[in-house]
Amino acid sequence: MTESLIHVLRSDEKDNAEPAFVSFAVPHENDMTLLAALLWIQDNLDGTLAVRYSCRGAVCGSCAMVINGDIGLACRAHMRDLPVEVFVEPLPNLPIHKDLVVDMTRFWDSWARVRPYLIRLDEAPEKETLQTPAQRDRIEQFINCMLCACCYSACPLQRRNPEYMGPAALAALARFENDSRDRRGGDSLKEASHDSGIWGCRAVFRCIDACPRSVRPADGIAQLRTRALKDLLGRKKR
Ligand code: SF4
Repeated sequence: MTESLIHVLRSDEKDNAEPAFVSFAVPHENDMTLLAALLWIQDNLDGTLAVRYSCRGAVCGSCAMVINGDIGLACRAHMRDLPVEVFVEPLPNLPIHKDLVVDMTRFWDSWARVRPYLIRLDEAPEKETLQTPAQRDRIEQFINCMLCACCYSACPLQRRNPEYMGPAALAALARFENDSRDRRGGDSLKEASHDSGIWGCRAVFRCIDACPRSVRPADGIAQLRTRALKDLLGRKKR
């Protein structure tokens, strides 16, 4: 049995106190995850500690937080791989509800703006609409997004401009613009062609480093820019 010291940055939107680290000593076996350690604190030391989680298996993305300065999932971080002192903080770039639970409204609103669903103008097919393997490959990485907001929180442009749509929403737009079954005809791309949309990215690539699912939002943004420029040049020629 080993003991680690977990320092949690705590605050509550209901009071005006500055966030402050509170330390908890947690005994653990080697296979304990950081999420399990936080839940152990809730059960044994302080039931008021707020942490969001659901699947515990790196599928839902709910337990994203800052772990010793890096953004990641608490369920994927093992105590055996972390130093004996662990500092955990809520995701940046989003308002804090309480402790490690942030308000995701801005993130969801941004994602909803790109209309993240298949748009069909024609009759629905009798069965499924088939895709070739090559057509599927073009959207594969973006489909893996689990909406954890790690990229959104890692993005320095997001910090500077809260109106910026952010990496996850733009990756979703790239996914549907690239989807052979979608018939949106460039309308969503036109709506995102502004300085808080596809032209807001400064290619810092923190979104790629932060993504636990190996999605590369910056690649999607580059694809959208190329398409927007082609559309513009096409219109000028006509
Ligand atoms: Fe999370 Fe990656 Fe999706 Fe961003 S692109 S929300 S980091 S899974």
